[in-house]
Amino acid sequence: MAAPFDTPVLGDVDERRIPALKVGAMAESKPYVATAAHQEPLGFPGVLEDGWEKKAIGRMGELLGKYRSLQVFMDICVKCGACTDKCQYFLGTGDPKNMPVARADLFRSVYRRYFTTAGKLTPGLVGARDMTKEVLDEWFNYFHQCSQCRRCSVFCPSGIDTAEISMAARDIMDTIGQGQKYCNEIIGKVHKVGNNLGLPAPALLNTLEGLEEDILDETGVPVKLPIDVHGAEVLLVTPSADFFAEPHVLGLIGYAKVFHAAGVSWTLSTLASEAGNFGMFIGNYEQMRKISMRIRDAALALGVKRIIFGECGHAWRVAYSFLNTLAGPWDFLDPRYPVPQHILEFTNDLITRKGIKLDKSGNDGMVLTVHDSCNVARGARMGDRPGGQFTIPRDVIRASVPKLIDMHPDTICEKTFCCGGGGGVLTDELLDLRLKGALPRMEAIKEVADRDQVNFVAMICAICKAQFTKVLPYYGFKMSMAGGVHQLVSTAIVLGNEQ
Ligand code: SF4
Ligand code: SF4
Repeated sequence: MAAPFDTPVLGDVDERRIPALKVGAMAESKPYVATAAHQEPLGFPGVLEDGWEKKAIGRMGELLGKYRSLQVFMDICVKCGACTDKCQYFLGTGDPKNMPVARADLFRSVYRRYFTTAGKLTPGLVGARDMTKEVLDEWFNYFHQCSQCRRCSVFCPSGIDTAEISMAARDIMDTIGQGQKYCNEIIGKVHKVGNNLGLPAPALLNTLEGLEEDILDETGVPVKLPIDVHGAEVLLVTPSADFFAEPHVLGLIGYAKVFHAAGVSWTLSTLASEAGNFGMFIGNYEQMRKISMRIRDAALALGVKRIIFGECGHAWRVAYSFLNTLAGPWDFLDPRYPVPQHILEFTNDLITRKGIKLDKSGNDGMVLTVHDSCNVARGARMGDRPGGQFTIPRDVIRASVPKLIDMHPDTICEKTFCCGGGGGVLTDELLDLRLKGALPRMEAIKEVADRDQVNFVAMICAICKAQFTKVLPYYGFKMSMAGGVHQLVSTAIVLGNEQ
């Protein structure tokens, strides 16, 4: 159960100030520790075993040797302070250990003790610390108060990416037997069943049939949601939340309508029924690779020509940045298309060359704003121009709704805030953290809602959708105010005469 907590009071986005420091405010905030039942199927020790301290230092050494960036991040911080007020978790909690530089120092202090001469000889003078249970507990708590959103790295003059440090810390904790239950349980479900929700194939098929009936009732058009169709042109890999969660499922209906209207054959896959890849959240490339291989296996088995990803922020970051390395080469796919492709690139291309027709009156009365999902904004791209990950979603929205108003410039595009639930913190026992981490985004929404009568926030991430629908009501907004971009396409698209 989550601890009791208060919803922060919304301030003025223009008047943002560094919050009053609340030392230790979040010292007790932590996720559940994974049990042996969650750890062992992933190949991690079930519990902390004797000698874990040495093992942790050994793993740290391996990671420092393997990832040059991690080694550099340890040595180049000049404590300039530029990052201190840039993390939504610090802004929402006031806990100084949620300043990115302080979070990184939890790792850096141990690094100094074992990997620098000064730290070995005079630890007290250089802030070096032994790896103790107390330090490990602090790591567990505060590295799970980072959503790996990379906002801090945008403001750091040296480009230090605290997200990468958090990932390394989580990898080390898994390696020694102190993993996080939420992420590791979900990864276990993907290996065993195929998706984060543990939705077995028959349930998936039933759901898709039900959605086809709903669309037929609503539109009179027999739009299909095909699955495991050999020889289809496109394999759509989408977050499993799209199969049943609200508002996610409305986006899935939107993708189906787009494929239908464009006359492109497509299929989902029971083998690759998950776009999400929590291997990234735990910083473990082997898990990321294993999860990604399901997509390769499905594409080969179905003989598709292209792979398109649905709306999911971290899934797109993994796909865009790592899929080729993790599961390539993709030389069996059609070389005319990028691998992978995002559903927004696909839809935007159709809009641009008039391959589908949208009627904005389907979304009459909506005044939109866009929440740029952090993993897409700072960890990936879309299209073939810099910034395409910002312009393409907005172009599709403008084609679908009458009015789009952007939020304060310090809160969008590359400076976007995390929704507060990314990076493996979307779990109930961290609701206090999620609520407080959402504060800067909620303030920016309030500004456009009060000034411009914005009544809907569009996003392209399954985790953002889940987080927003949970936290919006705490801040006095309607839960239904959040939804995906293809939800808007779905209500604007003209069906029926395209064949
Ligand atoms: S990566 Fe994001 S959540 Fe983590 S410290 Fe930086 S700003 Fe905060
Ligand atoms: S902005 Fe960069 S260099 Fe400055 S304190 Fe933060 S991490 Fe260190």
